[in-house]
Amino acid sequence: MKSNIDRLANKIENALSIDEKIRPQPGSSDEVNTRDQSKVGNAEHARISKDGNINAEADQSSIGIDGDSSSSSTSDYGASYSSSSDSDSDDERGIYNGPSPPLAVHMPLLPAGSKSVFAKDQSVLDAIVDIIRDGRAKKIVVMAGAGISTDAGIPDFRSPGTGLYDNLQSYNLPHPEAIFSIDYFKKNPKPFYVLAKELYPGQYVPTQSHFFVKMLADKGLLQRHYTQNIDCLERVAGIDPELIVEAHGSFHTAHCIGKKCRREFSQSWVREKILADEIPRCDTCTSLIKPDITFFGEGLPSRFFDLLEHDFSSCDLLIVMGTSLLVQPFASLINDVAESVPRLLINRVRVGEARLPGSGFDFDGRHAGRLHRDALILGDCDEACTLLAQRLGWADCLAELRSAFMLQKSPAAAR
Ligand SMILES: [Zn+2]
Repeated sequence: MKSNIDRLANKIENALSIDEKIRPQPGSSDEVNTRDQSKVGNAEHARISKDGNINAEADQSSIGIDGDSSSSSTSDYGASYSSSSDSDSDDERGIYNGPSPPLAVHMPLLPAGSKSVFAKDQSVLDAIVDIIRDGRAKKIVVMAGAGISTDAGIPDFRSPGTGLYDNLQSYNLPHPEAIFSIDYFKKNPKPFYVLAKELYPGQYVPTQSHFFVKMLADKGLLQRHYTQNIDCLERVAGIDPELIVEAHGSFHTAHCIGKKCRREFSQSWVREKILADEIPRCDTCTSLIKPDITFFGEGLPSRFFDLLEHDFSSCDLLIVMGTSLLVQPFASLINDVAESVPRLLINRVRVGEARLPGSGFDFDGRHAGRLHRDALILGDCDEACTLLAQRLGWADCLAELRSAFMLQKSPAAAR
């Protein structure tokens, strides 16, 4: 396992070395302007292609938090869990289609006179690494979405041709998100339990990204990990539950949905029922029992609201990974760290960018007079975490975490 990780790290390192050596200067003859089909924002960055070529790109198709008219208020944390649209929320529910694009570290071309938390003539990647290595980041907050679980093999329930999709088709869901609608669940809980059986914790192995967060925790650098994922892979990776906020709930606990009852049921009891294709019902009031996953139309867990003010006000480095930042109120949390706190987004596409100063990421220092503090790595979360670990000198530590996990999970297989 370690050698695989090393190979991946070497591959990324080699590609990046090429980037740093031949990074094109704006306007120079080396600069190659291309326009690909992915959603890339409207500034330049170095995309490292598989053959080591660097392309500077420009595109206008970025997605902004406030630009999405159907998003809920960016400041209303009292709002219930909401998604901007069926198709846009794929990312939040474990859906990532297509091959992984090559990793690309964004190179901000800041307007003259703008101030940045990052040193001049230093790539944002090196800047983030220095901030962690120098001890300037000791209260790191991580915000994560489905992108960190993609490589765990969490099944895509909306991709035709998959067994799970075919199973769910027979239930004639009015739309894919209905499976997470509390109103639909009350009328027809079966599709949710079919999905739950597939997703139930214990069947999937955490990814490099999960172990990277575990590593931050082990080094005493993690203030808190906020996840939108319901797969419990943070817990499975061994991160102290005290350091995790499952913003959209998880399978870890379950309750009777009867308004007057609300009796709690153990994960093991619910798991047994779900794996036996039985619909779990409360033996006190006969209402349905639902794992404590936040459905559309439900409020977020109180733990989310209890901790966010403390965590985000004391945060000294924010790392956002694998999320489209389209689901509120989670998406707005990026605005809750102090204005001088560096923020790193690792994602396949640019997301969460500000149309108005102070309301989202500003990777290119477009908002005059504001301190530039946003760094961007475009690409696969696991590759980026591997690269970060390597640059930090922690590649062995990351590899050991995974090896130890595999050994514990299956001693025979690890030998
Ligand atoms: Zn009950």
